[in-house]
Amino acid sequence: MEFTEKALVLKVGRFRENDVWLKLFCAGRGVITAFAFGGSRSRRRFCGCLDQLVLATFRIGTSRRGAYNVLQEGELLQAFPGLRADTRKIGLVAHCLKFVEAVQLGQEGARQVFDLLLETLTTLETQALGAEMLPLLFKAKLTFEQGLAPDLALCVRCGRPVSSHGPWDHVCADEDWRRLAFSVERGGLVCGLCDDVQAEPLCLGSVRVLEWIGRSRPADWPKLKLEPDMRRELGRVVDRFVAWHLGLRWENGTYRKI
Ligand SMILES: [Zn+2]
Repeated sequence: MEFTEKALVLKVGRFRENDVWLKLFCAGRGVITAFAFGGSRSRRRFCGCLDQLVLATFRIGTSRRGAYNVLQEGELLQAFPGLRADTRKIGLVAHCLKFVEAVQLGQEGARQVFDLLLETLTTLETQALGAEMLPLLFKAKLTFEQGLAPDLALCVRCGRPVSSHGPWDHVCADEDWRRLAFSVERGGLVCGLCDDVQAEPLCLGSVRVLEWIGRSRPADWPKLKLEPDMRRELGRVVDRFVAWHLGLRWENGTYRKI
């Protein structure tokens, strides 16, 4: 079987003298491993395509017994020179790539994440994004797009409206309504009347940022400015949310399954 698909090179390694293996994020298939036999010598078939962080259209076949993928040829589409020239940006990208790899996407949901990653790289290529902001935004957006968007309108315990659009200012003068919290396990907000000791406290501003992340695209992200307190609060909630729903935790420079 042979197919042609747009893919981003996540990792590259050499084996034997002239052969190369690649971890590719294919737009419609998720992450696969493929081998480019003679890849380190063949300029004609793979010109500029066998580097990390290259976007290319690859023609991919399978070995005779169908045991592994074999790259036939590649056509370079984008090499992101602006990212390569900036070590700080490369570090941010590496974080995003590790996360994508750790999520272990199958065919389903791959396209959305592929588009998200590509838009993130395109944004970073030309604009600056804070090192403390990008992993938070990327992780939250990717997780929300996997069908895990949190419920930010109604309390996940009692069903009362709690969002900024809700009528809670008028419905109840009780200050308890204003104390919000986020239940990681139930995937949404808990109102102040429901006592959930496990829930993370969350101010209304942070709730609005989570709503905004749900609507935003990476091109919008450089506009977001957050106070350190809010950033920490959101970082804590997003990290716990990702750990609970995707089973991933950032430890010692990599994502681990928990
Ligand atoms: Zn409630």
